[in-house]
Amino acid sequence: MTTRAYDVAIVGGGLVGAAIAFGLRGLGAKLALLDEGDVAHRAARGNFGLIWVQGKGRPEGEYRSAQREGRPVSLPPYAAWTQRSAREWPRLAALLREETGIDVALRQHGGLHVCLSPDELAARAQRLTQWAAQAGNEAGVDVLDRAGVAARLPGLGPDVAGGTFCAQDGDCNPLRLLRALHAGVAHAGGAVLAGHAVTRIEPAPGRFVLRTAHGTVECGRVVLAAGLGTAKLAPMVGIAMPVAPNKGQVLVLERVRPFLPLPLETLRQTDDGTVLIGDAQQERGLDDTLDPAVLAAMAARAARVFPFLRDVRVVRAWAALRVMSPDGFPVYAHSSAHPGAYAAACHSGVTLAAAHALALAPAFAADAWPAAMQPFSPERFDVRAIA
Ligand SMILES: Cc1cc2nc3c(=O)[nH]c(=O)nc-3n(C[C@H](O)[C@H](O)[C@H](O)COP(=O)(O)OP(=O)(O)OC[C@H]3O[C@@H](n4cnc5c(N)ncnc54)[C@H](O)[C@@H]3O)c2cc1C
Repeated sequence: MTTRAYDVAIVGGGLVGAAIAFGLRGLGAKLALLDEGDVAHRAARGNFGLIWVQGKGRPEGEYRSAQREGRPVSLPPYAAWTQRSAREWPRLAALLREETGIDVALRQHGGLHVCLSPDELAARAQRLTQWAAQAGNEAGVDVLDRAGVAARLPGLGPDVAGGTFCAQDGDCNPLRLLRALHAGVAHAGGAVLAGHAVTRIEPAPGRFVLRTAHGTVECGRVVLAAGLGTAKLAPMVGIAMPVAPNKGQVLVLERVRPFLPLPLETLRQTDDGTVLIGDAQQERGLDDTLDPAVLAAMAARAARVFPFLRDVRVVRAWAALRVMSPDGFPVYAHSSAHPGAYAAACHSGVTLAAAHALALAPAFAADAWPAAMQPFSPERFDVRAIA
């Protein structure tokens, strides 16, 4: 068995780990990115591609089941963190294009959440207006009536009552994003170790020993960003990471002429004309099978927004698992028991990719944990009750 040594090893090559690794690419050959590979649950390969700001960190919370169960849900710093990422996104996209030649198809001319009845619109308007008024919130939101939505989106169905618009929202091609982040790390000389599932982490004086089926990796610092896999790995370095799967589903329609200049929260058109319909939050453990009733409800709602979609064929569908914390907000942690060990998880890894690469990674590089990360610590949960 071989042993390789690095200054920093990132465990998990999904969107969170790859974005952090891209931010650390200046380490060159002293950096390793280890990924389990295709057998793992990978939200990074099943997501919807939105860079979504509106409503993030809103007072009534992020996570529907947390709202239902009345768990504490307000985390205003998440709004500021999301908005920072949205602002940094054009820089990330430019760096990726320059260094890898990959265009991640970033569009950031705003996004819309569409409401299908006056009551739905009134409730949404009240929530989002409250959100926009939160301390520290720099992203405005416009509440639009039907005419306001129609001015931006021709071809609306009669049920559309209005919606909310946020200029910082946008989308990208998330598969190209993942590829570009990996390519950027490799291009800078970092070791991208595919098929390297970490099975055990042994803290040792001044270093960490990572056991994999392909040998041992030693590192001075370790960042755990293995999505759902982090729940198992983090306790090995004294961190609680209580993340659990949350199933989402995506319907893919055949390509049509460009009709959607802006992404909607549950409907978008890719740069090659494909239409994606996405939604649903279900807690079904590791079950990632498709649920026809949920897909039918998603399709019916999309057809109420744009009736012409009734005649567009579905070509495929998938389900994938989000990485969800108990309150729905990101979790960033450093280990007090084993300094030099860190962990990161969130359910909006596309949106936060720029913050992870350009703001969080420098903290790992400096080995200095910023006070601004404290609100995202797992200490906010009763980690003993969860363990
Ligand atoms: C249906 C759906 C729609 C979504 N839509 C959006 C969206 O529109 N916008 C947005 O911002 N976000 C969206 N997301 C969320 C986004 O995809 C995730 O936040 C992001 O992918 C999480 O990244 P991650 O790296 O933490 O986890 P993952 O992407 O799941 O990656 C984890 C990686 O860790 C590796 N791994 C696991 N265990 C180990 C181990 N022991 N050793 C080594 N490697 C390991 C796996 O191989 C995997 O590659 C969506 C998610 C879903 C499911």
